[in-house]
Amino acid sequence: MGGTFDPIHFAHLLIAEDVRRRFRLPRVLFMPSGSPPHKDEGEVTPAEHRYIMALLATSDNPHFEVSRLEIDRPGPSYTIDTLRALKAELGEGAQIYFVTGADAVLEILTWRRPDAILDEAKLVAVHRPGFDLARLDETLGAERASKITVIEAPLANISSTMIRGLAARGESIRYLTPRPVIDYIRKHRLYRRDGVAPEPFEETTT
Ligand code: ATP
Ligand code: MG
Repeated sequence: MGGTFDPIHFAHLLIAEDVRRRFRLPRVLFMPSGSPPHKDEGEVTPAEHRYIMALLATSDNPHFEVSRLEIDRPGPSYTIDTLRALKAELGEGAQIYFVTGADAVLEILTWRRPDAILDEAKLVAVHRPGFDLARLDETLGAERASKITVIEAPLANISSTMIRGLAARGESIRYLTPRPVIDYIRKHRLYRRDGVAPEPFEETTT
């Protein structure tokens, strides 16, 4: 499951666990993007913060892992490069399921090499409030749409944008993301808009 994860939240976790159970997958890899090609520099929280929050949110699930692949790869994070790198690591026989929300899958034609993505992975599209997956055929064409498995995972109208907005106004983000993520956001003053700069990520030397 790829994403900016700025920050990771309960909808990401709910969907990942639902897909894992439904397809009996041995593990789910959360893949925080390095520099997302469709977002401007400076608009996104430093990758190390996003990575650590993903680790904190997933640490209690033995089937969940967070990958540094896109974070450590220089340049924009293209999904096709990631899928090929994973295939090289896991072996050509590995079956990768690529989990996306409705908004993301409806935009896939704007991504680099969408047809190659559909060949490399089994795309799973999950409903998301406000986005209509009935448009999949007309948006992508029937042939591409036929390669995508649409599932009804539990719906949760949560977005990272909503969490950033609440945190910026100093409002509660309880029940939207796991407690350790909330604590981390507070500790590092992420998303605050009160003139106090967020703490830069510093590598520990000890
Ligand atoms: P932002 O508001 O910053 O775009 P986001 O909540 O959309 O954040 P992303 O990191 O952009 O989270 O999304 C990662 C993946 O999770 C995408 O495929 C996205 O469609 C999916 N996703 C995120 N939130 C939901 C949700 N509430 N329901 C279904 N899919 C979701
Ligand atoms: Mg998004």
